[in-house]
This record gives sequence, C-alpha cells and structure tokens, in this order.
Amino acid sequence: MVAVAVFERAQAEGLSGTLEELEREVVDCRRCPRLVEWRERVARERRAAYAGEEYWGRPLPGFGDPGAAVYVLGLAPAAHGGNRTGRIFTGDRSGDFLFAALHRTGFANQPESVHRDDGLRLTGAFIAAAVRCAPPANRPTSGERDNCLPYAAEELRLLGSVRVVVCLGGFAWDAAARLTGLRPRPRFGHGVEASTGDGRTLLGCYHPSQQNTFTGRLTPAMLEEVFERARALAGLGAAPRR
Ligand code: SF4
Repeated sequence: MVAVAVFERAQAEGLSGTLEELEREVVDCRRCPRLVEWRERVARERRAAYAGEEYWGRPLPGFGDPGAAVYVLGLAPAAHGGNRTGRIFTGDRSGDFLFAALHRTGFANQPESVHRDDGLRLTGAFIAAAVRCAPPANRPTSGERDNCLPYAAEELRLLGSVRVVVCLGGFAWDAAARLTGLRPRPRFGHGVEASTGDGRTLLGCYHPSQQNTFTGRLTPAMLEEVFERARALAGLGAAPRR
C-alpha cells in the first residue's frame, strides 16, 4: 500500500524522532533540485513590496499543537508568503482567510498570521503542506510530491492524536489519501468526508487561494463550517464564541 511505502521510506531515511528533529530535517532538505532553485531564486530576487526583507527561502516545517486532533494539509508554500516569512500560510491573503476562520472556530488564538514571531498559537490543530518548498506556478510535480510526503507521514506519526485531516484542495486530498492508504480514493469535493479505516477522517475543503476566495467559491462561512465539522469529528466539542 502507498501509505506503508511512504511510512517505511520515512523510517528508512532516519526521520523518526521528535517533531523538533523532524523540523530540522525538513528545513535542511534539498532533495528536489527544481524547487531548491526556485525557492532560492525567489528569495534572492524578491517582490518589490518586500525588497527590504530577508526571505526565508527554505522548506517549511509544519507548525501547531503537538497534541493536535486536527491536521490541516495545504498544497505548498506561497512564493512571497511562507517562502518569505518562514511559516506556512503566513504573510499572504490565503493565510489571512484561513487563520480568521481558525480563530473563529477556536483553533487559533488570533485571526492574523503575519510573521513567525507574531504570537500565533494553535490549540487542537497542526498545519502543514504536502510539498514543503514553494513551487513555480504553485504546481509541484508528482515526483516532488512523492519526495516530500514522507515528512507528512512522519509528522502524523509523531503527532499521534490526529483524528481528522482537513485537506485544502484536491492536491492535498490526493496526498492525504496516499498517506493514509485510502482505497478506493473518493473524488475530492468541498465538504466530502472519507473514513480511512483506522478511525481517521479526511475532510475536503476548497483551498483558500485568492482565486477561490475572491470569486466567492469559498466564503468565510464555508470555511468555518468545515472547521466546525472537524471539531465535531475529532470530538473537540463546540468552539468558544469569538
Ligand atoms: S519539496 Fe520537500 S522533498 Fe523537495 S526539497 Fe523541498 S522539503 Fe525537500
């Protein structure tokens, strides 16, 4: 099964250990030459609005609550968002949209995710990307995905308490199905749920990309409903009122 292969490869590459060790492993990774070249080039050239900033320009580890019951899986860091700030969904419009919903549903202590030292804390949730380096045109290859999935596999193993995987978009849905060995693989859709057979649930959600949020394909209410559903599936109880 694919899930076993990914997990075994993670073990074989010596990724087991603590989340901190895994984080160091991820941050130093240079396995995908195309993505290494791209993430570093973007960090050198920079967008004019951030010309005075030093970009992170490296892979992004996941972050959040080590006791998380809900694992939120995105596609990959944004070139001038996470690749700039060093934290996934941080410093771009997608992150604004995502963390506002996580705050309203009790997973985040604040609605903004601006930079790595902004005081953001998650409770009950952990956020990561299927591919941990910014890809050109937000499109990683299947080979790059397969190179990177062992990190998510190891993260899930180390987290230990994850009951629900919220998949932000079809790429994350497919990656999570591979990670969990879900067969047959149900078609991705917003609000679609799939049981992995080991007591976990995959929960589909449109990606909070500007393309989706500007067009109204994904609204704040839709995203909040997904996270409220994730709370219920994970047995976390109702969110505190914000
Ligand atoms: S995408 Fe993943 S596997 Fe590839 S270089 Fe980045 S961290 Fe390494």
